[in-house]
Amino acid sequence: MSPFSLTGRRALVTGANTGIGQAIAVSLAAQGARVTCAGRRDCDETLTRIAEAGGQGDFLALDFADPMAGQGVFDGQGYSILVNNAGIIRRDDSLSFTEADWDAVMDVNLKAVFFTTQAFAEAALAQDTLPAAVVNIASLLSFQGGIRVPSYTASKHGVAGLTKILANEWAAKGINVNAIAPGYIATNNTEALRADPVRNKAILERIPAGRWGAPEDIGGTAAFLCSAAARYIHGAVLNVDGGWLAR
Ligand code: NAP
Repeated sequence: MSPFSLTGRRALVTGANTGIGQAIAVSLAAQGARVTCAGRRDCDETLTRIAEAGGQGDFLALDFADPMAGQGVFDGQGYSILVNNAGIIRRDDSLSFTEADWDAVMDVNLKAVFFTTQAFAEAALAQDTLPAAVVNIASLLSFQGGIRVPSYTASKHGVAGLTKILANEWAAKGINVNAIAPGYIATNNTEALRADPVRNKAILERIPAGRWGAPEDIGGTAAFLCSAAARYIHGAVLNVDGGWLAR
């Protein structure tokens, strides 16, 4: 079997109805994993794309408005792959940033990531569905400060830190924990930036690859990180950014 194959694996991807999560779900399924598309709305489009790719998938309602929503989801279900993709962003000056915007982002982007991953690992160890893999979706703002997005930047720096501590604790147990830091990817999340000609031009001028990333650019990387080909990669935060951070 190819070391990149995910045949026989069961995966759960959060926020799989659209954007990066959708592309990751399709990529994992195309490599043979049976993929649970988890989210707060239906994932019909993703499930259609999975079927078109010859894969198998199902839907699970999961809303991280309650960051503990992942408790119990993995018990006895045979999952060996978790992709923590769901994420939100709130923009305002740091001087006027509200507690509500702080808490909303930290709950979905950081607290839910930790406790969902904890629930996943407990189940994987209890059921011995090893080797197992966790891929967290970080950001360029796991490394850079950004502007007017204080809770997003704090949460994504936190995701990079969690990736490393969980790798330290679980590498020897057979669970690979890694993260992907996407650059500027064309999704709903970045629609406003792409619609602003000044910002769009400035962004494109700094990307060595000369284009916005496509969600599929992240999907392939996630599939690799979940596969046996990546078995000695632990605690990495891999930039998939068209070269942005190399500038
Ligand atoms: P997106 O199109 O806005 O997708 C975000 C996903 O998260 C959606 O599926 C969304 O569901 C889900 N989500 C939000 N709140 C949720 C909640 N309370 N419970 C469950 N799911 C929830 O954005 P995207 O660009 O694909 O973002 C995916 C991830 O990549 C995020 O973690 C984001 O921070 C990260 N990222 C994106 C970029 C980029 O350039 N696009 C760059 C770096 C990092 P709904 O559709 O229901 O809202």
